[in-house]
Amino acid sequence: MKEMIQQLRERQDADDESLKQLLVTSDWDRMLFREADLVRRKIYGDDVYVRGLIEFTNYCRNDCYYCGIRRSNHHVKRYRLTKEEILACCREGYLLGFRTFVLQGGEDSYYKDDLICQMVSSIRKEFPDCIVTLSIGERSRESYQAFYDAGARRYLLRHETADDAYYQKLHPAGMLLENRKRCLFDLKEIGFQVGAGFMVGPPFQTVEHLLTDLRFLQKLQPDMIGIGPFLTQKDTPFSGFTNGSLSLTLRLIALLRLMFPYALIPATTALGTIHPQGREMGLKAGANVVMPNLSPVGVRNLYALYDNKICTGEEAAQCRDCLERRVSAAGYHIVTDVGNVKRK
Ligand code: SF4
Repeated sequence: MKEMIQQLRERQDADDESLKQLLVTSDWDRMLFREADLVRRKIYGDDVYVRGLIEFTNYCRNDCYYCGIRRSNHHVKRYRLTKEEILACCREGYLLGFRTFVLQGGEDSYYKDDLICQMVSSIRKEFPDCIVTLSIGERSRESYQAFYDAGARRYLLRHETADDAYYQKLHPAGMLLENRKRCLFDLKEIGFQVGAGFMVGPPFQTVEHLLTDLRFLQKLQPDMIGIGPFLTQKDTPFSGFTNGSLSLTLRLIALLRLMFPYALIPATTALGTIHPQGREMGLKAGANVVMPNLSPVGVRNLYALYDNKICTGEEAAQCRDCLERRVSAAGYHIVTDVGNVKRK
């Protein structure tokens, strides 16, 4: 196993059986994390990039079985932020050292392409030294091109699973993995830095599914890879299942770092929710990005993808200070930088 991990580090690849063996046991975690940390330090030093997350709408036309803001959840109080409110979040974030703003929302048709383009270009105009990332789901290639032309440069779209049959167990009829993959490849061709990713431990997930995800990521070669443990939300069809596993998530972060040395990998809020030190553990396992919330405090707890989400009560400045302390206690440091991917 020791040689296998070293080979993985050298070749950034391994055969299916080896990867599966690594996934199912925690026996080699210590070595895996150490190797992953060495790789991340070689490329990124101890730098941690911050992204200011602005959750600007919790309306969504979709009905994903695992998601707390799915269309059928009538317990959610819905909200939308205006362009001015979004800009106010960016102003606050800029003063705190954020140089990337991530506009994230459900698939909300209220925000037509024109409005998204206006939002993007207004941010770019006021903050020319910042990057705008979008995370607003599946749209047409033409829409993506318009967003790029307006100045957006990164796009996050988790594929959730690369296995067709399993995708159908997580999503209602009408949502197609094929379309999601089409979106990801379109975004890449247009020139976006693209982020994909998946949940760890949702109902019915197997090691085979995880292997399929790793193989899909090898094909896509994304710049960002976001994974986090599946966490239940009380008003969804998956409410009765158990949360995903912290240790498997950390192991996967380490594997991803070894297979995709250059990747921007966040220590997600979901990790911090499943364990008080989850994000620090994520960094030590190979993650190099954190995404604190810049949304107005009044709407934070309404973007409840899962239960008990952390950091919904603090002001942006408090979040930033708290993260600064956590990141440095873990042995890394937050930098004021747009934080681009460092490919060879
Ligand atoms: S996961 Fe995304 S697309 Fe699915 S219901 Fe939630 S916000 Fe909508």
